[in-house]
Amino acid sequence: MELSTPVQYIKGVGPKRAKDLSKLSVYTVEDLLFLFPNRYEDRSSIKSVADIEIGEKGTVIAEVIAVEITEVRKNMKVIKARLRDEEGNFLVAVWFNQKYIKDILKKGVKAMFYGKVEYRFGEVNMVSPEFELLGTDGLADINMGRIVPVYPLSGNLKQKQMRKILWTVVEECMDEIREVLPAYVLKKYNLMDRKSAIRSMHFPENFDELENARRRLIFEELFLLQVALSVRRKNYRGRHKGYKFVIDEGEVKRLLGVLPFELTPAQKKVLNEIFEDLYSGFPMYRLLQGDVGSGKTIVALLALVVTWHNGYQGAMMAPTEILAEQHYLSLKDMFSHIGMRVAFLGSKLPKSEQDKVCEGLSNGSIDLVVGTHSLIQDRVAFRNLGLVVIDEQHRFGVAQRVKLVSKGSAPHLLVMTATPIPRTMTLTLYGDLDVSTIDQMPPGRKPVKTYWITDSYRSRLYEFIRKEVKTGRQVYVVCPIIEESDVLDVQPAVSTYEYLKNDVFPDLRVGLLHGGMKSREKENVMKSFRDGKIDILVATQVIEVGVDVPNATVMVIENAERFGISQLHQLRGRVGRGEYDSYCVLISDPKTEEAKERLKALVEINNGFELSEIDLKIRGPGEIYGLKQHGMPDLKIADIVRDIDILKVVKEEAMALVNYDDKLSAYPFMLLEIKNRWKGRFDIWAGA
Ligand code: ADP
Ligand code: MG
Repeated sequence: MELSTPVQYIKGVGPKRAKDLSKLSVYTVEDLLFLFPNRYEDRSSIKSVADIEIGEKGTVIAEVIAVEITEVRKNMKVIKARLRDEEGNFLVAVWFNQKYIKDILKKGVKAMFYGKVEYRFGEVNMVSPEFELLGTDGLADINMGRIVPVYPLSGNLKQKQMRKILWTVVEECMDEIREVLPAYVLKKYNLMDRKSAIRSMHFPENFDELENARRRLIFEELFLLQVALSVRRKNYRGRHKGYKFVIDEGEVKRLLGVLPFELTPAQKKVLNEIFEDLYSGFPMYRLLQGDVGSGKTIVALLALVVTWHNGYQGAMMAPTEILAEQHYLSLKDMFSHIGMRVAFLGSKLPKSEQDKVCEGLSNGSIDLVVGTHSLIQDRVAFRNLGLVVIDEQHRFGVAQRVKLVSKGSAPHLLVMTATPIPRTMTLTLYGDLDVSTIDQMPPGRKPVKTYWITDSYRSRLYEFIRKEVKTGRQVYVVCPIIEESDVLDVQPAVSTYEYLKNDVFPDLRVGLLHGGMKSREKENVMKSFRDGKIDILVATQVIEVGVDVPNATVMVIENAERFGISQLHQLRGRVGRGEYDSYCVLISDPKTEEAKERLKALVEINNGFELSEIDLKIRGPGEIYGLKQHGMPDLKIADIVRDIDILKVVKEEAMALVNYDDKLSAYPFMLLEIKNRWKGRFDIWAGA
């Protein structure tokens, strides 16, 4: 049997069970070997009945003395087997409605029994124990008298079948398993070899061995990931020559002079990091992270202007039209006087306008373009794309990022995110990106005062809102989208809007914005809000990302428990952008402890990085940062939070290895394994 053999052809599987296995993402023999148990049951020590504590589980070997079936009431048959263990102790095993047992456990038969021991009616009992006959079919070796694996199941699969299947596979396929880690690494970190580790994960002899096996496989998984990331990074930087921009200090000074504010030291620091990349002669490959409102946009815009200085085109992609247009307007407001030809590209543009932009980009009559997903359409081509900026990059998949980049010849790449990524995560996810962090807010920002209230405070909240509006400020009220069987229900927003408009604030201007509206309608509403023609904007989380209206000072979030920490923080970041005191009011009566923890964290902490660490602790990494979305293979056994210490060591080792052998020519099996795991996700060896 080869590792790539479909499971269907394994003895005892067949098409039906293969289908059940596919629901566990198991298609091949290899997938099976890497389907690790959820947990283990210790059935290893076989005891005499007398030695098992009442209330504990244990394994005994015993002979069947007699079996009887009684019908205690209609449809309830009790099967009792009288047993005697090898020391002569008696035990009664009891099952309910499992008549077939009588046919298996005949008088005189010897079997192993595993179950919980209880004391009832003067007898020692085992209720519904699992059992295997001795000596006939070998099943006792698998299910009894050892540490027994407990697998995830699906469909009609039974635990015992799974064990049997895995037993067969482990027996028959071990010779196919190749070591993928370098010998010196195994030695240095005292790691178990791969074959033994896989065998031990399924059928360990003891718990120490299991622990060693697990450590080895965690190490392997993280090592392969880090090697792949290092190769990807090295290839990106090393294989292509990047555009070498000239950074003219005088020009930069002049640019900074036209800004309506002075850059913060943090902004200056990251701007310098970016300039160094642009100047280096290698393509930049950098993540710019900074809390909501820390001022990432201007940094990106400056990099775009420098790109233009150097005679190259620049493109900036944002996840929504509102946001893209906002960036486009900033760019025009601040820099159009210096002669740059700037364009916007989004689906709201009439087709003919879009055609014009496309033409301008390909013939070079447009210097900079800001847009949405429209930028990655096939028909968009550039004359000489020098810099790609991607805003709110967590909204895009890797494929989209790659697609835009590939419209140039190794252009510089800057991706930005306001979802602060805990350091642990940057280490893994962005092992291949350089990271710049804006860790400081522009001056004069006052922290947004955050309150958590229940329904009973509503009337006081409405009075407060009225007061704010009377002094000229504006208010957001955000309602969750209820997701039911894939249909997005915007009803909460709509009914809140009607209630506020008709019953609470008939004298104020209330607007509505949700994802179900046509993009032109959305634009109009957003524009009215920006222009101060709407006092209270009721919205779904469509406004979560990037919108900048400094006059808005109150963010009310209905059913706040339905949002995640980082979403709430993003929403809160929509206010507190101007000179006024700002407020975020979370309305919620959460049912779960986890939700309470989240809201409490929001009230107490204003810093996005701290919040993200808390989020990571509460929810775990998989949930928050869909690894797949970043082009990563799923982690099967490692946990980047729990295994952070291993991860650090592994990263160093992986980088060292890639430094002297970036083709992995000395490690063909490692190369094969990495290619296998990354299959179809991100071609790290493209063109190599
Ligand atoms: P984000 O990092 O969330 O994308 P923005 O780039 O949208 O933040 O900036 C938020 C607001 O702060 C904008 O109104 C921007 O003009 C303003 N801003 C940026 N940098 C500074 C600064 N150094 N001083 C004052 N205001 C700034
Ligand atoms: Mg932004």
